[in-house]
Amino acid sequence: MDCIFCKIIEGSIPSKKVFENDTVVAFHDITPQAPVHILVIPKKHIATMNDAEGEDFALIGEIHRAAQQIARELGIAESGYRLINNCGKDSGQVVFHIHYHLLGGKQLGALVGPTA
Ligand code: 5GP
Ligand code: ZN
Repeated sequence: MDCIFCKIIEGSIPSKKVFENDTVVAFHDITPQAPVHILVIPKKHIATMNDAEGEDFALIGEIHRAAQQIARELGIAESGYRLINNCGKDSGQVVFHIHYHLLGGKQLGALVGPTA
């Protein structure tokens, strides 16, 4: 399967990992949009939120648990952060392996900005 994030999980594409357990991996975004910009992903390949089913929703809970821990470890738990999933065309999703953007480290701007 030609999926960038599956390749990051297996290690054939390098990444700066900040968290890993049996089901979830997190690493620095290659094009950070904030001082802290981490991608939190399941090891299971699920293309989009529309494709999540059954036990996948427990996995999504694990992603939130990991994000909470990473936010603490990177020092943004108290200052605040966003945890964002893009799903499909209108969201601007470009990598079709579910991921959550953990963003923080500064006062973040409008939730919905101008389109590029
Ligand atoms: P999306 O727009 O799909 O929600 O976000 C995909 C994110 O993946 C983007 O923020 C992009 O910078 C990041 N990204 C794409 N390719 C790579 C890569 O090879 N390594 C890392 N670390 N991040 C990537
Ligand atoms: Zn994948």
